[in-house]
Amino acid sequence: MNKSPDIIIIGGGHNGLVCAAYLAKAGRQVLVLEANTQAGGLGATREFAPGFRASVAHTLPQLGKRLVKDLELERHGFGLAAQALPTVAMCTSGKHITVSGNELGGASASDTAAYPAYLQLMQKFAKAIKPFWHKRPPLLGSGGLRDAATLGQFGWKLRALGKQDMRELMRMIALPAQDLMDEYFESPLLKAALSWDANVGSKLAPRSPNNAVIALLYRMSGDLTGGLPLAKGGCGGLMDALAAAARAHGAELRLGSPVARVIVEQGQATGVQLGSGEIISAPTIVSNADPRTSFFKLLGARHLDVQFTHRINRLRMDGQVAKLHLALESLPNFTGLAHPDGRLLLAPDMAYIENAFDAAKYGGYARQLPMEVLLPSLRDDSLAPRDQHVLSALVQYAPYTVKGGWDAHRDSFLENALASLERYAPGIRECVIAAELLTPADLEQQFGVTGGHWHHGEFALDNWWMNRPTYGASRYHTPVSGFYLCGAGAHPGGGIMGAAGSNAARALLEEN
Ligand SMILES: Cc1cc2nc3c(=O)[nH]c(=O)nc-3n(C[C@H](O)[C@H](O)[C@H](O)COP(=O)(O)OP(=O)(O)OC[C@H]3O[C@@H](n4cnc5c(N)ncnc54)[C@H](O)[C@@H]3O)c2cc1C
Repeated sequence: MNKSPDIIIIGGGHNGLVCAAYLAKAGRQVLVLEANTQAGGLGATREFAPGFRASVAHTLPQLGKRLVKDLELERHGFGLAAQALPTVAMCTSGKHITVSGNELGGASASDTAAYPAYLQLMQKFAKAIKPFWHKRPPLLGSGGLRDAATLGQFGWKLRALGKQDMRELMRMIALPAQDLMDEYFESPLLKAALSWDANVGSKLAPRSPNNAVIALLYRMSGDLTGGLPLAKGGCGGLMDALAAAARAHGAELRLGSPVARVIVEQGQATGVQLGSGEIISAPTIVSNADPRTSFFKLLGARHLDVQFTHRINRLRMDGQVAKLHLALESLPNFTGLAHPDGRLLLAPDMAYIENAFDAAKYGGYARQLPMEVLLPSLRDDSLAPRDQHVLSALVQYAPYTVKGGWDAHRDSFLENALASLERYAPGIRECVIAAELLTPADLEQQFGVTGGHWHHGEFALDNWWMNRPTYGASRYHTPVSGFYLCGAGAHPGGGIMGAAGSNAARALLEEN
């Protein structure tokens, strides 16, 4: 970049890249400064053992067609390795239940009959709320026309559900996942599987009230394929395409360039100082880092008022999910599953998930760990050497702060995860060549995300929409002029979706 940038984006996670691409496409000179040597943040695909590659985020349920089209991501190399992976609720006896589209395989007659109506209702609710994930939250009491219109549209979308379904949404919205599942289904195994997306990534379990249904609807916000997609090359395939799109529009990406602080002069952000000491000036600074990093480490609390600082301090940012990557010499045998191709959920019932959560609440972890397991190399041979495989698993619950520290517990947590896997895939250990376990503390250290939190802070009603990350910073701009947010800690939240990045870009273009 010959000219000095108009906009500096701190962090080249997917939201930073999306924001950069939209801003550069609109003609702004954009510089992205990424601390790691690879762009993509939690979505980057990395080699974790020689010849074996995986990304921390592994599926794309929230990605939308619009982003792919707007940024011409296919032209920049994005493709899918799987359109719609089925979900398999795994049973140690081999009597699994498969969820594929609106069909169940292996379920009871009553559950098979109940599922299409349940799915249709949830899809209807998800569709009503979806447009608001892609809009800037309204400012309450602003008197502005646009804010009033957004609130009006929200009310109208709910009303347009019809009286019966609107009332039903209002009744259901704060239910614990367990109550929702108990209303519709009888099989403990199926209930555990269908409750999974309501809780994964948050400090929630099936009995937690208030947030599960909204989190479930949020996870249903993608429309790329109508199913559970996998990117070619892992999520990193998408990250590379986003980086290529941003560059093609003229953005510059500087990797291995951690920002140490944002420079503020007379209440206005005017540039950044890198860890190397280099200073780069720009009138607009956008942070893809989480809110606590953005406001405290980068900006400094001295530039913020006390109440705002307290609210950021109180954000719940302790991650609960560990990521396990296994390099496998051969394909393991899962009992009763001829071909382990799908999202395999390892949780026999909701109590199993709740028990694991109970242990984590008090700084421990369960012996039997609920897991979401994929073997992405079955769909994508670029991830492992020929005839060998990658196992990629979300393991819950792994509290960010474990009593005694993770160094003392890493081996035993890994042992519990392998033992939990072995109940479904006897002998799997013999296939393991190498293992990488990333606890929330590792994710914090390697990806710069406070607490290693999936959403850069809980996705919860108190931290939602015009309260995300908190009022005073929910519309991408912050109390410091020229300093913006564009990461998962901003509206609408985490998951590979790009909405925070694109909403922030739109907000910036409207204001500047
Ligand atoms: C274990 C786990 C599994 C997940 N699995 C899935 C999944 O399967 N599907 C899904 O949709 N979502 C998943 N998620 C959630 C998803 O990965 C995140 O919500 C998403 O990656 C957030 O994107 P982001 O761009 O906002 O932030 P990030 O991906 O966190 O990127 C932020 C970037 O900012 C950089 N940065 C931070 N500080 C600085 C600094 N000072 N200077 C320069 N750069 C800096 C970081 O290095 C990083 O690259 C998962 C999350 C976790 C923790």
